[in-house]
Amino acid sequence: MPAGYIGRFAPSPSGPLHMGSLLTALASFLDARAAGGQWLLRIDDIDHQRCRPQWSTHIQETLQRYGFRWDGPALVQSQRLPLYQQYLQQLREAGYLYACTCSRSQRTAQHTAQRVYAGVCRNRGLPFTSTCSWRLRLDDTAQWVSDLRLGTQQFLLPECSGDIILRRRDGAIAYHLATVVDDALCQVTHVLRGEDLWPETPVQLFLQGLCQFPSPQYLHVPLVTDTHGRKLSKQNHAQALPTHHTGPVVMQLLTRLGMVPEPDWQDLSPEQLLQQAVIHWDRSTLCRMINTQRR
Ligand code: GLU
Ligand code: ZN
Repeated sequence: MPAGYIGRFAPSPSGPLHMGSLLTALASFLDARAAGGQWLLRIDDIDHQRCRPQWSTHIQETLQRYGFRWDGPALVQSQRLPLYQQYLQQLREAGYLYACTCSRSQRTAQHTAQRVYAGVCRNRGLPFTSTCSWRLRLDDTAQWVSDLRLGTQQFLLPECSGDIILRRRDGAIAYHLATVVDDALCQVTHVLRGEDLWPETPVQLFLQGLCQFPSPQYLHVPLVTDTHGRKLSKQNHAQALPTHHTGPVVMQLLTRLGMVPEPDWQDLSPEQLLQQAVIHWDRSTLCRMINTQRR
């Protein structure tokens, strides 16, 4: 295990923690602690339309009830906006961005695949006003992405993400920029997160390259799905987690991560249960778990 492991869990406070997000928290916590590393908590709350402060409090309280302890105070993205602005300006000055005035309906009409913008405004040379969106000009090149579980794959950036928005027309900074900046400035070495974010990884690597940041190692964790095979999310009303008698839930999640918890672990306190899991953690079991992502 490399020295100086720094991991993180980065929930978006757009609803309560659910089984899926708790699984990611658990995987990233166990991997970090088993490596003797730090584990940071970051609140991804820059999307003010979706995020609420009360969910941020609720998420932190729930994590504590489940026995999680993080290093240092939680990092709150909404308090770091000037930092993201600074990198946004640098990218703009370096010529990597362009202004886009497409309306939402135009953008949809221009989609070549489900969500890829066709670059209508790419060569229009529009001025960077505060009321237009600012897009990243993506190279026509391939991006290699490595994942400890999914292996190494090549993605064609124009096909998988298109020219993404880094600054929305309402001024909001995009998730991609904030996450890349924070992972780098916090010197995160390992990102364990849900497999739903695997398709977002190539463009994040590309951005890391432009900002001259090192890339962390990635391990995308299989998603918790409902009985219909759909990813659990706030949108499909994933049940809120119990805040008492948390042992059985954690035991169930450990099994999902490929562990075989001893039955008597569930009588332990939340902290002790996590301690046992750290002692028995074996990343390679998780890495062998089947690929659930449909491509
Ligand atoms: N905040 C993101 C989410 O909850 C995760 C960000 C990340 O792990 O890169 O989906
Ligand atoms: Zn446009």
